[in-house]
Amino acid sequence: MAEDFNTEQKRYLEGFASGIAAARMTGGLSLGQAPAGGVSEPTGPDAIHIKAQEKTVKAGGKLCDQEKWKRAENPFEGHNRLIEEAATGKAPKPEDNFRWRYHGLFWVAPAQNSYMCRLRIPNGILHHWQFSGIADLADAHGGGYAHVTTRANLQVREITPEHGQPFLDGLIDLGLTARGAGADNIRNVTGSPVAGIDAQELLDTRPLARSWHNWILNDRSLFGLPRKFNVAFDGGGVLPVLEETNDIGFQAITVREGAAVAPGVWMRLVLGGISGHRDLARDTGVVLRPEDCNRVADAILRVFIENGDRTNRNKSRMKYVLDAWGFEKYLAVVEEKLGRKLDRVDPAHVKPRGGFDRYAHIGVHGQAQAGLNWVGVVLPVGKMTTDEMRALAEIARECGDGQIRLTVWQNFLFSGVPDARVAEVEARVAALGFTTRASSIRAGLVACTGNRGCKFAASDTKGHALVIADYIEARVTELDVPVNLHLTGCHHSCAQHYIGDIGLIGAKVVVSDEGDTVEGYDIVVGGGFGDSPKIGTEIWKAVKADDCPGRVEALLRAYLAGREGPSESFQA
Ligand code: SF4
Repeated sequence: MAEDFNTEQKRYLEGFASGIAAARMTGGLSLGQAPAGGVSEPTGPDAIHIKAQEKTVKAGGKLCDQEKWKRAENPFEGHNRLIEEAATGKAPKPEDNFRWRYHGLFWVAPAQNSYMCRLRIPNGILHHWQFSGIADLADAHGGGYAHVTTRANLQVREITPEHGQPFLDGLIDLGLTARGAGADNIRNVTGSPVAGIDAQELLDTRPLARSWHNWILNDRSLFGLPRKFNVAFDGGGVLPVLEETNDIGFQAITVREGAAVAPGVWMRLVLGGISGHRDLARDTGVVLRPEDCNRVADAILRVFIENGDRTNRNKSRMKYVLDAWGFEKYLAVVEEKLGRKLDRVDPAHVKPRGGFDRYAHIGVHGQAQAGLNWVGVVLPVGKMTTDEMRALAEIARECGDGQIRLTVWQNFLFSGVPDARVAEVEARVAALGFTTRASSIRAGLVACTGNRGCKFAASDTKGHALVIADYIEARVTELDVPVNLHLTGCHHSCAQHYIGDIGLIGAKVVVSDEGDTVEGYDIVVGGGFGDSPKIGTEIWKAVKADDCPGRVEALLRAYLAGREGPSESFQA
């Protein structure tokens, strides 16, 4: 224990173990007064975490650095110190880089000697004035551009230390926050980008995503998990949300007559998705009333907080507790916390889900509301300049319902566009250099930040993605169906390469006997999501980036030659 804790922490732990009243910890922990000769219990919002750390140490585990940093100073209580130190313009120490991530700022040196800010945008929906306001903030404090992420979110880069807190303050003025967007916290809450406007949907995910977003923000004990955590809501509509790649996925389903619960729309609970670890969320058999999602997700999280691994960062996601325990044991502990049994439904009593249109996030589509449309726009690898953002916000304001809906495909759509304004929207989008009529390859192009902005990346994912798209567009002109091409820079798999039709993961390729390397990729094929979820299979290792366009072309030509028709997917 001794080497894991500073003097104050050690004093607390020893006191706890021996029943001696302990010193008050920093980080918001308020210790209860020990009864005479009794044992004091940690109380307050951090108590659940302190107890979990303590359990780890007592069992002989050595806490990882991040757990020690959380313990030494709670990132929320240390916020003013972080602000004062950042105002000097200095780069943060590693432990403060970790703490800043609780506030949404990531120091990304050496790729860029500055912060990146990742926001929180529940269900990915912004008002036009928020979108243009973020552009103004990116001009005032960042690099003058933003990226759409694979959690239907925005990132702004090149924020110098002294501009970090002013940027965050500006977000608050826009009714936004970045709180908990990084580190071991619950990430941006995703939901269907066409929620409320899709005729097929069973349930509008917007109020659920927003409610869960606020539930998290209002409860400090839900910050500082063993590792990051993702939650998604699928409304049963035409567009997938990739909830199977989340730790918790809620899927709207229709239960038929004769089931153990009343017929109607319920949320099915799927757990344990983490595509970078080659696992997709699986059905637990549990169904919930939509209004119960927050309470049940909260209980699932608390079981994870109490039992997740706090020693090994590679084994600390919830999946590993599920793997060790099995679903039934995990759910039994959740039920104990809830004080009631969860409802379960046999899959035979669930109506088949409505079909997916995997590319309904691009182009013009009629809404549930007669005479209105959503118009999906392709952003090449998710990047927009601030001038482009302001122009797009104007289109939303003048031609649509004023909203911009970001998607997990690093694109966005306008909603509420009357039939009579569709052509104008398309023309104005085209004038900005974007398109609503993507080529097959560009529509499904997803790339993580890559080595232009992320120190973990082995390759320039965004740059190579565009090179491949240009190459394929020029050569494989007969490609008549969309194909998903995902490029991710490292094993963290932010671009979810394992679920792409074709997935590339960054690798250094050795090109000489002296060990010289060039950028390249391992290549997997056949991944899927939605109605055909699947982890792809690796077929080539260490392909030089220069050779990747040719390899992708070969795969596409093999698909075109071997399929029976356009209705046969790449995955099939
Ligand atoms: Fe960085 Fe790796 Fe995520 Fe790409 S996948 S953004 S390289 S952490």
